[in-house]
Amino acid sequence: MSSVAYAGRSLELSLGESVLDGLLRSGIPVAHACKAGSCGSCMLRAVGGCVPPRAQVGLKDSWKAQGYFLSCVCVPEADMEVSEAGADTRVTARIMAVDHLSHDVLRVRLQPERNFDYRAGQYLTLIRDTGLARSYSIASLPHESELELHVRLIPGGRMSTWLCEPASVGAQVQLQGPTGECFYVPDREDQPLLLAGTGTGLAPLWGIIQDALRRNHRGPIHLFHGALRMEGLYLREALRALAARYANFTYTAAVLEGTEEPGIFIAPIDAVIASSHPKLNGWRGFICGDPTLVRSLKRKLFLAGIAMGDIYSDAFLPSA
Ligand SMILES: Cc1cc2nc3c(=O)[nH]c(=O)nc-3n(C[C@H](O)[C@H](O)[C@H](O)COP(=O)(O)OP(=O)(O)OC[C@H]3O[C@@H](n4cnc5c(N)ncnc54)[C@H](O)[C@@H]3O)c2cc1C
Repeated sequence: MSSVAYAGRSLELSLGESVLDGLLRSGIPVAHACKAGSCGSCMLRAVGGCVPPRAQVGLKDSWKAQGYFLSCVCVPEADMEVSEAGADTRVTARIMAVDHLSHDVLRVRLQPERNFDYRAGQYLTLIRDTGLARSYSIASLPHESELELHVRLIPGGRMSTWLCEPASVGAQVQLQGPTGECFYVPDREDQPLLLAGTGTGLAPLWGIIQDALRRNHRGPIHLFHGALRMEGLYLREALRALAARYANFTYTAAVLEGTEEPGIFIAPIDAVIASSHPKLNGWRGFICGDPTLVRSLKRKLFLAGIAMGDIYSDAFLPSA
């Protein structure tokens, strides 16, 4: 069994217990959300002892070098001394505006106090003054002055319902990140790109598409956006306008309930992709949103011919 020292306190971890669970059990508040090593909100810094490699998977090299690690998946083999994530991983920001993109999707605009360097499609962790932390994909482009998030309003959801309250506008929050490898790299400009997501899975894809078009990507770019019903297909007009402007961009939507319209299918999104694109050899794929869909589509795109190394994804895991 190993022990963890934190802010002058020391605690024994139970067998197989993570640093996060040990700290929470001892009444020490640590921001966290997915508890699956994915969202990054529980990041701490090791100031003594050895970090198990699994606890640093997906972190930036500069963060790894400074001892940062994900406490939810850190089960140490020896004693560790840890501290809070430092100011170098967080930026203070102000919520400038919140408006509705659809009945249950909020657009949240944030103004960071200093430069927040990111790639379109990466995600950040939004941390409230209460310590509540949730991850959101970034829908804006790095040159824009404000950051834009698309947040699904979940009944009873602690972060999303707070963001929907008028009082959240003007509030100060902390941003941690950016994290993730779901972004456009302009190395093969003629490669066809397939992007698929449901609900707010569109947020990172919206950023990636605009980034690729701005960088003059020449190959076809095909977006598939799925929702339960028509009203869930937010940004429809903006996406249609983009398709009218760029000959290499195609937008296809799919809903499970409703009446068929041009460009909108009544079918599961994966069935629509399979029938329109049975062979995808040489394509690059981006999949974001619902974790079950991300997992199954990843497999289907691979079986249709996309190399695993050419599939980028972000599963929106809910808080644990
Ligand atoms: C890498 C990453 C990127 C993400 N990007 C986005 C994004 O761009 N936009 C976005 O809206 N969300 C995104 N999420 C999900 C987001 O972090 C929160 O989990 C979500 O907003 C719910 O937070 P909440 O505090 O409102 O609800 P919570 O208080 O965490 O949850 C309230 C209840 O709702 C349930 N619940 C939580 N999420 C869902 C869900 N999706 N469907 C059904 N029930 C749910 C919970 O299990 C709980 O019972 C992302 C998550 C990850 C890990």
